[in-house]
Amino acid sequence: MLPKIEIVVFIDALGWEIAQKHSFLQQELPFRQRIEMQFGYSCTALPTILSGCRPNEHGHLCLFYYDPVNSPFKALRYLHWLLRPRSFWNRGRVRNILSRIIRRLYRYDGYFQLYQMPLDRIGMMNYCEKQDIFAPKGLSPLPNLQDTLMQSRLKYHLSDWRASEQENIAAAAAAIQSEEADFLFIYLAGLDSLLHEKIGEPELIQEKLQFYEQQLRHLLQLAQEHADSFSLTVISDHGMTPLRGTADIKGAVEELGLRFGVDYAACYDATMFRVYFLTDAAREIIMNRVTSQNFPGHWLSQEEKQRYGIETGSGQPNYGDEIFLLAPGVQIVPSDMGDKPLPGMHGFAPEDQDSAAVLLSTDPLPEDIREVADLFSFMKTRIAALDELHWRNGPA
Ligand SMILES: [Zn+2]
Repeated sequence: MLPKIEIVVFIDALGWEIAQKHSFLQQELPFRQRIEMQFGYSCTALPTILSGCRPNEHGHLCLFYYDPVNSPFKALRYLHWLLRPRSFWNRGRVRNILSRIIRRLYRYDGYFQLYQMPLDRIGMMNYCEKQDIFAPKGLSPLPNLQDTLMQSRLKYHLSDWRASEQENIAAAAAAIQSEEADFLFIYLAGLDSLLHEKIGEPELIQEKLQFYEQQLRHLLQLAQEHADSFSLTVISDHGMTPLRGTADIKGAVEELGLRFGVDYAACYDATMFRVYFLTDAAREIIMNRVTSQNFPGHWLSQEEKQRYGIETGSGQPNYGDEIFLLAPGVQIVPSDMGDKPLPGMHGFAPEDQDSAAVLLSTDPLPEDIREVADLFSFMKTRIAALDELHWRNGPA
């Protein structure tokens, strides 16, 4: 019997709106807080949750960024001439296989996915998630969750982010039953892909949430059997916004006849156009074109970049000289992420109600946890309290 078990469950894309609408674990988790999303995507939110720092400090905003000097993919620049016909190499499944090959070839242990990044441009791009951000020193020099746990005297269990939800739940249940963990961080990513594809099908969403409810109730019961006290908290990174329109920014920019890599460079994410100006003339021409086309969205101001913690920090990658953010629900199509819009997308303004994330707990919540970056200090406080309790009870 352990003195206490502390469980934190991360559910990717469990938005505040959906959690409240479905009264997700309302009885078991009565302490509920709406959390403001970290501007960006899951690849931004996860390092933020794991370190408590924002992109201006941890350097992860979007997966790809323009960096021709340091691009690790220079060799692929020449390979792309061989990869024909282009349509074959752009197929989703082929891209997945190619991503796996590159990941292995480059010995990346982080999340690597090419998506639809054009093969003739990848040789000018760099990638932010080369390392496993969950692993010890994964966000070095910043300490991450695992570094923090290793410094404590606790036994802990961290899910394997590469494993399936079922595997992660089973591994966590086994860790509780064998009393091998005082602190557990469980990673569940299935809701995100479901909502991207099926946001318009409430019965499927309901079914998925019920599955989570069942599984988490089971874990709560196990915790009750194996510890004098327990606490379970569900956290997330963002919500999901239904598709409301598309914008062909890529088409508008490429029509201008400017040369990629000479006059300008760009990354077309699903919800933002990040542009690098290599000449002053290109800045004027591109910004005028995007503004005059009246795409629903706006150029981020310096004040917004600072507020969101995404201004370029010293020694950090540059994610664009300017960023044009689409209005909630409007997706860039085609983008470097795909040729078609998805029924649901995230990565819009954090203030949008569909963007909001959650903090749901069995226990009262501190008042100062307002945004995704605060979730790390929340876990750190819980770890410190648990560590102290553990020590008071006399470690083995
Ligand atoms: Zn997603």
